[in-house]
Amino acid sequence: MLDLGRHAWDKPEPFRLGQQQEITLNILLVGAGLSGAVIGRKLAEAGHTITIVDSRDHIGGNCHTERDADTGVMVHVYGPHIFHTDDEEVWNYVNSFTKFMPYKNRVKTTAQGAVYSLPINLHTINQFYGKTLRPNEARAFIEEQADKSITDPQTFEEQALRFVGHGLYAAFFEGYTIKQWGVTPDQLPASILKRLPVRFNYDDNYFFHKFQGMPVEGYTPMIAAILDHPSITVKLGTTFTAADAEGYDHVFYSGPLDSYFDFELGRLGYRTLDFEKFTEDGDYQGCAVMNYGDKDVPFTRITEHKHFAPWETHEGTVCYREFSRAAEPDDIPYYPIRMTDEKALLADYITLAEKTPAVTFVGRLGTYRYLDMDVTIREAMDTADLFLKSETDGTAMPAFAVAPL
Ligand SMILES: Cc1cc2nc3c(=O)[nH]c(=O)nc-3n(C[C@H](O)[C@H](O)[C@H](O)COP(=O)(O)OP(=O)(O)OC[C@H]3O[C@@H](n4cnc5c(N)ncnc54)[C@H](O)[C@@H]3O)c2cc1C
Repeated sequence: MLDLGRHAWDKPEPFRLGQQQEITLNILLVGAGLSGAVIGRKLAEAGHTITIVDSRDHIGGNCHTERDADTGVMVHVYGPHIFHTDDEEVWNYVNSFTKFMPYKNRVKTTAQGAVYSLPINLHTINQFYGKTLRPNEARAFIEEQADKSITDPQTFEEQALRFVGHGLYAAFFEGYTIKQWGVTPDQLPASILKRLPVRFNYDDNYFFHKFQGMPVEGYTPMIAAILDHPSITVKLGTTFTAADAEGYDHVFYSGPLDSYFDFELGRLGYRTLDFEKFTEDGDYQGCAVMNYGDKDVPFTRITEHKHFAPWETHEGTVCYREFSRAAEPDDIPYYPIRMTDEKALLADYITLAEKTPAVTFVGRLGTYRYLDMDVTIREAMDTADLFLKSETDGTAMPAFAVAPL
C-alpha cells in the first residue's frame, strides 16, 4: 500500500534485490537545482529509486535559463551564471551532459563618470590616475597610495585602504559594497579581502580558473540531461514540508535550513535581488556585465544576457538592472549574510539538524553558504559517495556532509 502523505505524490515501495543482497532505497530529494540533480543522478545510477520535488515550475534552481519569447535571447532568469572551475572531474562531468562554449567573463564598471575595466588591473590603474605605468611602476605607485597608518586592519574598509588607498577604494569598493550588502565596509570583516585585489598586468579575465565556459543551450537543458534517468521522477510545483519525509528511507534537502524547521528559532538573514528586466533593439551596453560603483546609482549592475552567448546573433536584447536588499520572508533568498548574529543562529539550527534522523542538508540553502556551481557539484558528488559508503558500511549518514560553519 502506498503512503501518499500530505501531498499526493507517489512514494514508491522499497524493494529488495534478494539475490545480490542489494537494497533499493526510496530517496527523496528536495530541490531540482544542481545539488538535487547531481545527488539524484549518482544514487539512481547506484540502483536507488529517486523522487525529486521542487516548489518551482521548472528544474535548475537558481541556474535556470530560458529563452526570451520576444527576442530569442537566452536569459539567466535568477541572475547571470558563468561556469568556472579548476576541478577537472567536475568539468568533465558537466561536459558529459552538454556542450560548453568558451566564455571569459570580462566585467566593466561605471564609476565617477567614467568606464573602467574590472577586476582592477593595469589598464584600470593607468586610466584612473591618467598614467602610463608599467607593471613594476604601478606596483610601487599603488604601494604609495596605500594607507600605511593602518597597521593591523580589522575591517574590510581598513584592509582595502591599506591595500589600494583611498582613490581606488572609493571608486571601486565602497559604493558597490554598500549597495550589495546594505552595510558600510567598516562593518564587514577584513578577511573578505585576503589578498591585494589588483592585477599588475592587462589581464581582465574575471576568474583565474583553468576551465571556463557556458553551456551552449543554457543550464536548464544540462540539468534536464542529468535528471534524465529511468529511476528519477521529478515533481514540479510541489512544496515539501518536514512531514513529507515520512515513508522515504532518506531525504536530501537543498531548501533553506531554517525553513525545514519552520523558522522555529528565527530566520537566517539573506540578501535578495530584484531584477528590473528591459528589452531594447541592438546592443544596449556592449558587454555582458556593467557594474555601477557610485553610491547614488541605486542598482549594482546591469547584465545584458545576449553577451553571455556571443556565438548567437539576436536583433533585440534583454537586460536586467539588478538591485540588492535584505530578504523579507516571501523573497527569494540569494546571498547568505553570515555575520556574527547569523552564525550564532546557524549553530543552533545545525544542532537541530543533527538531531533529525535520515535527513541530509545540502547545497547553498541547506548549508547556508555561498557556493559556486562547481563547488555545488563537487559537494553533491561527494555527498552521494558518502551516502553509498555509509550504506555499505552500515553507518549513519550525517546531517551535513560538509560542515556549514
Ligand atoms: C545572483 C547569483 C549569481 C550566481 N552566479 C554564479 C556564477 O556566475 N557562477 C557560479 O559558479 N555560481 C554562481 N552562483 C551560484 C549558483 O547559483 C549555485 O551554486 C547553485 O544554484 C546552487 O545550487 P543548489 O541546488 O544548491 O541551490 P538552488 O539552485 O537554490 O536550488 C534549490 C532548489 O530547491 C527548491 N526548494 C527550496 N525549498 C523547497 C521546498 N520546501 N520544497 C520544494 N522545493 C524547494 C528551490 O525552489 C530551488 O529550485 C550564483 C548565485 C547567485 C545567487
